[in-house]
Amino acid sequence: MNTKVNCNSAQRPLRVGILGGGVAGATVALRLADLGINTVIIEASDGLINGPPICHLHAGGNLYREISDQQCLTLLRQSIDSVRAYPHSINYRPTVIATPLTDPGDAQALLPRLKQVAKEYQRLVDEDPANKVLGEPSQYYRCYSREQFIALAKQPIPEQPLSHDDWMTPLAHHLDPSQFKFPLILVQEYGWSLFRMAATATLALEQSEYCELHVNTRATQLEQLNDGWCVHTVDQQGHNQPFKVDFLVNACGFRTGLVDDMAGYRRERLVEYKAAYVAHWQTDGHWPEVIFHGPRGTPQGMAQLTPYPNGIYQLHGMTDSITLFKDGLVASSAYSAQPELPQPYQTQLDHGWQTPDITQRTQDAISHLARMLPAFKQATVAGKPLFGAQQIPGSDPSLRAADVSFEGAHYARVEIVKASSALTAADRIVYKLADLGWLTLSEQAIQHGLSPQLTITTQHSAHQIEASAVKLTQQRGYPEALALNMD
Ligand SMILES: Cc1cc2nc3c(=O)[nH]c(=O)nc-3n(C[C@H](O)[C@H](O)[C@H](O)COP(=O)(O)OP(=O)(O)OC[C@H]3O[C@@H](n4cnc5c(N)ncnc54)[C@H](O)[C@@H]3O)c2cc1C
Repeated sequence: MNTKVNCNSAQRPLRVGILGGGVAGATVALRLADLGINTVIIEASDGLINGPPICHLHAGGNLYREISDQQCLTLLRQSIDSVRAYPHSINYRPTVIATPLTDPGDAQALLPRLKQVAKEYQRLVDEDPANKVLGEPSQYYRCYSREQFIALAKQPIPEQPLSHDDWMTPLAHHLDPSQFKFPLILVQEYGWSLFRMAATATLALEQSEYCELHVNTRATQLEQLNDGWCVHTVDQQGHNQPFKVDFLVNACGFRTGLVDDMAGYRRERLVEYKAAYVAHWQTDGHWPEVIFHGPRGTPQGMAQLTPYPNGIYQLHGMTDSITLFKDGLVASSAYSAQPELPQPYQTQLDHGWQTPDITQRTQDAISHLARMLPAFKQATVAGKPLFGAQQIPGSDPSLRAADVSFEGAHYARVEIVKASSALTAADRIVYKLADLGWLTLSEQAIQHGLSPQLTITTQHSAHQIEASAVKLTQQRGYPEALALNMD
């Protein structure tokens, strides 16, 4: 674990302002508070980590065939760090990657990269045994031939899966092997509970003497000072309050461009509007997550089945009628760093979804999954979608590993695409503050980096986090299963 850092200012302690309390802003605040650095979070909504969904950890990037090997290795390292930073938020079950015959891809194409990722995982575990958070490195993935898969269909579905075979057996009972290319690949890519992350951050930051948390408060204007910023805000009652900070972190998610505009900084970025759906399906046994590959944006686009307890499943389908939206990917312009989404999507973001849209798109998602998993057509709509807009810095829509950029000596913008990149962004901010002379880091931190384990997130038990996460699902109107531990 890390010790507190020395803040070097002679006049006053360093105060970092964080705009946006999504996973990016909350993680920066956790890291800074853990080191004893004062933060003030300004969050427009009524709670922390309350933005677009997070269901998959992406420890190895194996869901994305199109991204570079380097991005996969980065996501692996960042995911391991994230498990250590948010220890009670992981849904421990593997992911199965299946390539249907309708997909033009080669089922074997992933194998060279999986070998590299498994080797890197072994190296990280050798470097620090505490990195062994994804099981044995030698068991990181396993390939199933057609014959092995057919043989599993003759086994009973285990009540409590303990081995790779146990996890694969429900699929063997339900999928038609003649519709798939082999191997099917089972990999230790776990789920991530947004609600238990939100509970972890809320409990830790509400109790931290180093964090001042203002929810229901929106930053409306920025004033640059010689030695920092004055952030002008308005709360729900219409009260205005200014906050003076030495260093500002813009972590406003898909609205990061609006704050860049307030600060007068130009920036190229994309914003994509997307949604995932919640269904109930009563079936035997425990399911792994399942990815059915397919070309993105076509009617056969990738389908993703993410299991939670009590028969609740989260669904993605990479087609325009399910997860993606027509003209839902927009770019910034020469006039504004903020990309503009079409008005209907902006309205859904601001006011939520109407029931007919919820029913139609969730039913489309169920049918999309049922093409490959026929029994899934019995599934029913189990609530409103998890939806939101996601930012991607630059102009490459396939970028998945991104973290932070700086402007001058007082401004950072955190632009993550995957939640696991948040801790890397936070750490780079700490090193920037040290470079600027605000703090002195220990020799250990300079030589080896900061430990991903945070004292502040380990002070509550798994049970306390789960109970608090369940309350958040109730407040936000989602099934409690999304907050429950998988075991
Ligand atoms: C359908 C979908 C599925 C996804 N699935 C996954 C997944 O499985 N795994 C994964 O890692 N990632 C996933 N993502 C991406 C993930 O949701 C985002 O990377 C992540 O939420 C970004 O976090 P953030 O903190 O940057 O932004 P946000 O969560 O959007 O937080 C930004 C915060 O800033 C606040 N804010 C904005 N403007 C202001 C202002 N002016 N003043 C004060 N506060 C302000 C907002 O209220 C918000 O709370 C998914 C995204 C989508 C859309």
